[in-house]
Amino acid sequence: MADKKLKWGENAPGKFYVDEQCIACDACVLEAPSFFSMNDKDGHAYVAKQPKTSQEILLCQEALEACPVEAIGNDDSEES
Ligand code: SF4
Repeated sequence: MADKKLKWGENAPGKFYVDEQCIACDACVLEAPSFFSMNDKDGHAYVAKQPKTSQEILLCQEALEACPVEAIGNDDSEES
């Protein structure tokens, strides 16, 4: 499970984030390119834009589920 204490600084403020477990596989960027971007220099993805509509949130949730190392977090589904 992603850990919000380890999230990258580039993540747009909001409930979705990518943490340091990311292995830069590109799955989330392919799944939801409007919301996830790759930092090619440092070798990890990050949330470039937070989803707003329920359809956008669903897309980001699908990206979260597609991540092979569970590096994407959603604060809504975690205890704080
Ligand atoms: Fe990183 Fe997961 Fe996105 Fe792959 S799917 S780039 S491991 S956050």
